[in-house]
Amino acid sequence: MSTVSEAPRGIEGAEHWLSMARHTPLAVVTDLDGTLVPFAPTPDQARVSTRLSDLLHRLASAPGVRLAVASGRKRESLEGALGRIPGLLLMAEHGGWRRADGAWQPCIEPSLGPLSALAESLAGMIARYRGAWIERKTWSLAVHARPARRSERAGLLVEAAAQIDAWLAGSPGFERLNGAELVEVRPSRIRKSLAFSWMKERAPQGERMIALGDDVTDEDLFRALGPADEPVLVGDRGRATAARWTLPGEDATIAFMEWVLAARAEEPTPSPLWLPEPVHRVDAVSGSPWRALRELGEIGNHAVISSVLPSAQRIRPSRSGATPMPG
Ligand SMILES: [Mg+2]
Repeated sequence: MSTVSEAPRGIEGAEHWLSMARHTPLAVVTDLDGTLVPFAPTPDQARVSTRLSDLLHRLASAPGVRLAVASGRKRESLEGALGRIPGLLLMAEHGGWRRADGAWQPCIEPSLGPLSALAESLAGMIARYRGAWIERKTWSLAVHARPARRSERAGLLVEAAAQIDAWLAGSPGFERLNGAELVEVRPSRIRKSLAFSWMKERAPQGERMIALGDDVTDEDLFRALGPADEPVLVGDRGRATAARWTLPGEDATIAFMEWVLAARAEEPTPSPLWLPEPVHRVDAVSGSPWRALRELGEIGNHAVISSVLPSAQRIRPSRSGATPMPG
């Protein structure tokens, strides 16, 4: 477990990320929605940009790198968005389905049965909320509130959670998850930590992992990581996290991953637009990554550091794009 030790700050943190980016073998496991693409009313409406597609292509085929996308999406949806990228490992339904080179493989026997009664009772309640919908997955069920009226979403989620909790009282082995504008019921044993186990089963000796995600389901993956791995929370969700690092939003995640790719391929290392910052960081000037990275640029000939890095201010989520700090 790497979650209790303090993440290095300043110059030490910048050197740490340069070392991590250049480590071979390296695994990158990333969530999709809210981490690489902005949320949309339905997952299938969330667009994978050409920039992101190109990044995933290049990173998946980079020497010494294994790249996986671990999502809560159904496998059809994940495959439709990313299925044509050579070498990209896919995990759908929080790791319940995995796809390497060939066909999708389930981690446990697929079963829809137990949730049917719950789905029926939820459907009656959902009908009162225009736009809301229920998504059935192989093992789980999700109530999506995002397409409903903003003023009604909280009430819908509370009502759905109450019905789900009543059902859970008689259904051991399942659990409720509160996601971003959704509530989901799934078997307790299907967690994103399965993604970690699956990656480790086939990991080359000495592999280190960077795991990125925004949602509460990503915390299971963060907690599973080893001491040589790095968990990065995307977005400030205002909750306790097992991540050691944070990035402010989807565009920053993409920019960081592009920098990882460039750091492995190029000399001198290009300026990072965004680097993960320590979670629970102290806003002391001496700890400023902006200052420290600038100093690193001055003392090393292997890195050129830009002053458009985040300042010592606490990072806020950027939903519309990476916002360079003044400087
Ligand atoms: Mg997500």
